[in-house]
Amino acid sequence: MKIAVLPGDGIGTEIVAEAVKVLKVLDLDLTLETALVGGAAFEAHGHPLPESTLKLAMDSDAVLFGAVGDWKYDTLDRPLRPEQAILGLRKNMGLFANFRPAICYKQLTDASSLKPELVAGLDILIIRELTGDIYFGQPRGRRIATDGHFPGSEEAFDTMRYSRPEIERIAHVAFQAAQKRSKRVTSVDKANVLETFQLWKDVLTEIGLQYPDVALDHMYVDNAAMQLVKAPKKFDVVVTGNMFGDILSDAAAMLTGSIGMLPSASLNAKNQGLYEPSHGSAPDIAGKGVANPLATILSAAMMLRFSLNQPEAAARIEAAVDAVLSQGLRTPDIYSAGTTKVGTSEMGDAVVKALA
Ligand code: NAD
Repeated sequence: MKIAVLPGDGIGTEIVAEAVKVLKVLDLDLTLETALVGGAAFEAHGHPLPESTLKLAMDSDAVLFGAVGDWKYDTLDRPLRPEQAILGLRKNMGLFANFRPAICYKQLTDASSLKPELVAGLDILIIRELTGDIYFGQPRGRRIATDGHFPGSEEAFDTMRYSRPEIERIAHVAFQAAQKRSKRVTSVDKANVLETFQLWKDVLTEIGLQYPDVALDHMYVDNAAMQLVKAPKKFDVVVTGNMFGDILSDAAAMLTGSIGMLPSASLNAKNQGLYEPSHGSAPDIAGKGVANPLATILSAAMMLRFSLNQPEAAARIEAAVDAVLSQGLRTPDIYSAGTTKVGTSEMGDAVVKALA
């Protein structure tokens, strides 16, 4: 089983190192090959997604990704910015389904920004479509740099689009995921205003007829955002488009205590996948050894389950994470009084020890 390891920028290198440590003690036949991506690749090769990195990713069974980006690249032409590497990988690998589970560990209910009773036992799955919507429409606009500042005085627009087959395939993914859970799907749209999302709603309803065992309801995105912080446990599987999914899944992340706890998987039709934490490169804490590596370690567990067919190894990692939380170990983002504050590598070491 070949894994492309792409740590990227900022805390990406720190957290991926911990996930690699964990994978190496599992006694599985894994080949790990590392390559540059994002700002690090731009510095070395002049492009955020060099041919060699893309080839490695395409030739692997799965990609373990850290994070990319830094404010210092904000003035680069858009195609050269670190974040374009993720879009390029998604596009070339055909990664259309993004799974973002938001689980509130019982040990962390106090770290949530909501009252413990609202989040205790929370276990929702947000499925975000990844290859359509406004991020892949046609951007237009031009900005003129003056001493590094963009006055932004010109008009700009991005077109939002979805095709019927794109919506159909994500709908099937959502209904099938729901069949393995509590058999409920909430489709989030903005059909009251946007034609794109009227099509979305119509197709979801149509495909839903093929899954009579799954209950489907529709919710406008503004209401969904409100319900997510009012009564998050009402949801089970949530399926939505690229942009709404981007925003809602970050909001859901905070319910669980920290974005540093949330793994994600992006899959194509062959179950080849890219696995990464839901957060970014966190330049504000990079290099300080304080980033929470658990989202990345849990992403590695998802990788073993979804792409490498190793559900037992995945469950062992998840149990080890649960164990270190029960031991009271916390990186600063999830720290609360009475627990023990640890750094990135101490947390990784603790997971390795719990596995043993
Ligand atoms: P971010 O997710 O990097 O950080 C948001 C906040 O969460 C920061 O305060 C950060 O310190 C904290 N945080 C994030 N991960 C953490 C962890 N593991 N442990 C502890 N705290 C953590 O989002 P941002 O600040 O908006 O973006 C920073 C850079 O990351 C930007 O360049 C952005 O484009 C990029 N980004 C990349 C990805 C990706 O690689 N998939 C995703 C989102 C943002």
